[in-house]
Amino acid sequence: MRIDLHAHTTASDGADSPRELVAHALAAGLDVLGLTDHDTTSGWSEAKDAALGTGLRVLPGIELSCQVFDDEGSSPPRSIHLLGYLPDPTHPELTAEMDKIRHHRSDRLRLMVESLQSDYDITWEEVQAQMPPGATAGRPHIAQVLIDKGFFADTTEAFQGPLRADGPFHVPHYAPRLREGIRLIAHAGGVPILAHPYTGERSSAVHHQQGFEGILQAYQELAEEGLAGLEIDHRENTAEGKEVLRRVAAELTLIVTGSSDYHGTKKPNPLGENLTAPAQLERILERASGHGVFS
Ligand code: AMP
Ligand code: FE
Ligand code: FE
Ligand code: ZN
Repeated sequence: MRIDLHAHTTASDGADSPRELVAHALAAGLDVLGLTDHDTTSGWSEAKDAALGTGLRVLPGIELSCQVFDDEGSSPPRSIHLLGYLPDPTHPELTAEMDKIRHHRSDRLRLMVESLQSDYDITWEEVQAQMPPGATAGRPHIAQVLIDKGFFADTTEAFQGPLRADGPFHVPHYAPRLREGIRLIAHAGGVPILAHPYTGERSSAVHHQQGFEGILQAYQELAEEGLAGLEIDHRENTAEGKEVLRRVAAELTLIVTGSSDYHGTKKPNPLGENLTAPAQLERILERASGHGVFS
């Protein structure tokens, strides 16, 4: 069984339509594909229709934007991604929160474009043209315009340049606190799993510059909030990070997943480059109680 539980489409910042994603998943020999667009479930129905009768099963999910504030509140909040599998896509609280995030993401992206206009000849209309109506707006949509106009070779180069999070053009966007995100997904019957928790580059929910006992306690607090698992096999987690996370998952009996985080041509990650064990998928299915259907 080849199970890849994290992929994006044009419903957020991926390059493939949901139908194209299903075709690529079949070509990659996958048996199960997790569809996890940022802050939306709008790709679910097209993907499920496309997968019908092909032998590919689609595990519907989301990747919810969240943030973590340090106790003192002195440093800026850290941006965290929380995967949620099989939430009820009509749950009023969850859909309201995703609507709010998408709205703020769009406003924020327009502000970034206005700021970038001092150095780059791009317009908000050109960036909007990259997104189907209702898609979750993200920096990769600006990256595409910068690439099309010859400023950068690919998304990675644009993110190393003006789109970087610590650069002068970056504008943050609203996102719920991680605890709130965990609660929302769980209330909607979904299974919350922390995406790429231990990378060298991205911000993390837990401070890892401390002894193992401290790290374990921090993850235990999240587990008590309802966190169900950790995405350990992801290209951005460091080798040392994966080891630590495996110890944490064993201690706390958390679900362990592996995924590509495929974005089509918008990221180098190929489908199936990391996989999830069938027993771990079973644990996700057992824990889910929403109305999302695995088909
Ligand atoms: P945003 O959602 O606007 O904060 O933009 C971050 C998103 O850009 C993440 O979901 C990444 O998947 C995507 N992305 C694509 N390529 C890169 C890259 N080279 N570096 C960082 N993020 C990237
Ligand atoms: Fe993304
Ligand atoms: Fe992510
Ligand atoms: Zn992702």
